[in-house]
Amino acid sequence: MSFLPSCRDVSRHLSEALDSGRPLGMHVRLHLTLCEACRRVLAQFALIRHGASRAPDAGPSLPAEAKERLRRALGGG
Ligand SMILES: [Zn+2]
Repeated sequence: MSFLPSCRDVSRHLSEALDSGRPLGMHVRLHLTLCEACRRVLAQFALIRHGASRAPDAGPSLPAEAKERLRRALGGG
């Protein structure tokens, strides 16, 4: 059973979704629920897109705009 995209596919989809603002596909979202590594990749992408990578005092919480992008990418509305 290999209907789920690979981690490599997922990171490509994440990049495209964050660039385009379109929601992720169902299989990608399912992969994210199962794969902590890809959830970290998603958070990293969101931070990079927000221009906040390498912020010395970046805490565990994402900037509001990054959160909004994440929510859109995950299909929240
Ligand atoms: Zn993965």
